[in-house]
Amino acid sequence: SLVLVTGGNGFIAAHCIATLLRCNYRVRATVRSAEKKALTLQALSSAKVENLSQLEIVVVSDPTNLGALSVTLSGCQAVVHLASAFTYDALPGEFEERLMIPAVKGTQIVCEAAKLHPTVRRVVVMSSFASVYNADLGLQPGTVYTEKDWCPLTYENGVNAAAVPTAYRASKVVAERAAWEYVRDHRVQFQLITLCPGMVFGRMIHPISSLSQLNASNQIVWQVLSAGKDGQIPPTKAPVWIDVEDLAETTVRTLTFSGVGHERFLVTQGSYDTQEIADIARSSPVASRRVPVGEPGKRIANTHYSCDSSKAQMMLGMKFRSLEESILPLAEQLFNMEMH
Ligand code: NDP
Repeated sequence: SLVLVTGGNGFIAAHCIATLLRCNYRVRATVRSAEKKALTLQALSSAKVENLSQLEIVVVSDPTNLGALSVTLSGCQAVVHLASAFTYDALPGEFEERLMIPAVKGTQIVCEAAKLHPTVRRVVVMSSFASVYNADLGLQPGTVYTEKDWCPLTYENGVNAAAVPTAYRASKVVAERAAWEYVRDHRVQFQLITLCPGMVFGRMIHPISSLSQLNASNQIVWQVLSAGKDGQIPPTKAPVWIDVEDLAETTVRTLTFSGVGHERFLVTQGSYDTQEIADIARSSPVASRRVPVGEPGKRIANTHYSCDSSKAQMMLGMKFRSLEESILPLAEQLFNMEMH
């Protein structure tokens, strides 16, 4: 069957495309320019993604335009919606235009377009752990977040946020709520699946030409790796994570699992902290001489909230890889990129 992936040039989207193709789906992916289309094809081909002949990339310069997006859904059985700005470089005054509108309107339009195409049976929206936890409550040791929890931020909180991380979190939760409101208020033929991953780490196969273009979550890893032997390990924020290939596999499994209703899934392997990333990286020969030592073995796990992702493990049969299995290949790739 044919699956539409929005934001096809992104870090997570590229892995979703690769996993879909490997599982014999046909994929149509949207990007915002002809240049990004060419770069994406090039990157996926260098990464030796299987069955690339089954991928079609279409340019939709404004994915919040219903007509333009709807055309791309023709003949599709499912949509995986990933296009959304995950950036911390917007300034106060820009949050509505750069974060809130693309996220919220983008998600509403995906739902509206899907309703126009009776062939579409599942709509998967990549939400975030940002839509689940309440960052204002701090560390909350002992708290275990589940799919029932919702970040309380509103549209107005996003527009008027004092700092960009709050605006990003608001963009994710208001967008996800918009999808749930859509299926509540309309008679839809599709099942809605929302996924709430923690920080996503792992090897990259999307188009990226230099470390300056690193996506926001892998930047956390690079900030540790590049802090310098005598540098400080940067503090940990939002310390739950998932590997990008595991997230892609989870996404693909939501297209065929036997559930009949709308579902929300938390997708996290467990806790991480930047000290743990440093400890893992120092075990590799390239990094041992340059990554800060900090306080080896110190872990955030017992001093912080955690997540229960047993629903994804039980309903989708997922087993998630360890932080080491995710970070070591990424570290090798990042050091290689630094050299070239
Ligand atoms: P990337 O930054 O690698 O990709 C983002 C994608 O969204 C790109 O295709 C980008 O296209 C598109 N995009 C950005 N801004 C806009 C906009 N204003 N309008 C339309 N499209 C836009 O991010 P990730 O792969 O990390 O993230 C993908 C999704 O996963 C996002 O929804 C993100 O919120 C979510 N997520 C990510 C997590 C992570 O840790 N990485 C954790 C939890 C959720 P272009 O290049 O044209 O800008």
